[in-house]
Amino acid sequence: AAKAAGRRTYRFFEPDMEEEVRARRDLEMDLRRALVDGGFEVYYQPCLSLQTNAITGCEALVRWRHPQRGMISPAEFVPLAEDTGLINQLGEWVLTTACKEAATWPGPVRLAVNVSPIQFRSGTLALKVMAALAASGLAASRLELEITEAVLIRDDEAALAVLHDLRAIGVRIALDDFGTGYSSLSYLQRFPFDKIKIDRCFITDIAEPEGSSCIVEAVVNIAAERHMTTTAEGVETEPQRDLLRELGCSEMQGYLFSAPKPAAEIRPMLLADRQGPEVAPSRPRKRKPV
Ligand code: C2E
Ligand code: MG
Ligand code: MG
Ligand code: MG
Repeated sequence: AAKAAGRRTYRFFEPDMEEEVRARRDLEMDLRRALVDGGFEVYYQPCLSLQTNAITGCEALVRWRHPQRGMISPAEFVPLAEDTGLINQLGEWVLTTACKEAATWPGPVRLAVNVSPIQFRSGTLALKVMAALAASGLAASRLELEITEAVLIRDDEAALAVLHDLRAIGVRIALDDFGTGYSSLSYLQRFPFDKIKIDRCFITDIAEPEGSSCIVEAVVNIAAERHMTTTAEGVETEPQRDLLRELGCSEMQGYLFSAPKPAAEIRPMLLADRQGPEVAPSRPRKRKPV
């Protein structure tokens, strides 16, 4: 019955396809204009060590302030930017802007930037990364690029070559949304990522009976064996955090600690964190004895 209704609904909307195409074209034009007029903003979401609670880095997440429609989520416009090729320009802007911002943060805090498969296959990603680092003065070791499994699905050799080029620059590589692709585990065999970001879908029910804690535990163990760290995405509750810590997950990101925020709100948070009693795992030896 639901199927029949679905089919009827589809028929019903068919004459409006033209309108849909027009709406898409309008949005594409708005997107082009926003790239010229500065309609985008970069928000940052902190990532915390589960061992020390210190902020270890922030992920850059792009936002679009649409003049009529208000804030539009990247989940809506990134696919359009990818289809139209505009993602190359948008991605370069995010990378440059975020590197400049991160260069003002306290030393050890890292910056993570999402890279679209389109950018990844553009042939110029490594050059753009080097340019952004040079323009900002940010150390390569403080930049982490987040890629998804989609970049590895085809063109295996070419994709591996890009990963090795990026590695040669000295940036870190994280595998984003881990577990949502169709052969996730096989990718870990082919390239030594620095970090695995465990997708939010496994974190949501991690603390439930019959939830995903076994899967998360397995991923954490595989990662450790291959010298990769793990970040849990979308941590919203204390039980989730406590369990992740127990399972040996390295880092967490999520609304429990902070949603993505504008640069002006993030910087003081990072400075305060550095002055606090907790220090990142790599730092204690440098501290003066008290
Ligand atoms: P992602 O890279 O996996 O980013 C995580 C998403 O989860 C972000 O959504 C973030 O705001 C959201 N999130 C973080 N903590 C929580 C939580 O505790 N609960 C829930 N429910 N959500 C949480 P956002 O900012 O809407 O971005 C969505 C996606 O858009 C990103 O997923 C990424 O794939 C893409 N994106 C964002 N910025 C960029 C960019 O500059 N370039 C590219 N290529 N893609 C981007
Ligand atoms: Mg990401
Ligand atoms: Mg993700
Ligand atoms: Mg995601």
